[in-house]
Amino acid sequence: MNTKLTKIINEGQPCRHCGTSVIKRAPKEKPRGDRAFYFEYVLWCPKCRRVYLVESAKRFWSEN
Ligand SMILES: [Zn+2]
Repeated sequence: MNTKLTKIINEGQPCRHCGTSVIKRAPKEKPRGDRAFYFEYVLWCPKCRRVYLVESAKRFWSEN
């Protein structure tokens, strides 16, 4: 297969596995104090439920 690996960075991009448009969603995992960063949101495929982590949604605790 010649599948080009496109990075999923925006809402509405097709899921790499099933082609469904991904949607923004609050991450399942709650922010934890023992980590330097957390994700403000993730991109989520409503069909196959795959979660894509977005670099631009990364937030550092030091910003607070
Ligand atoms: Zn999918």
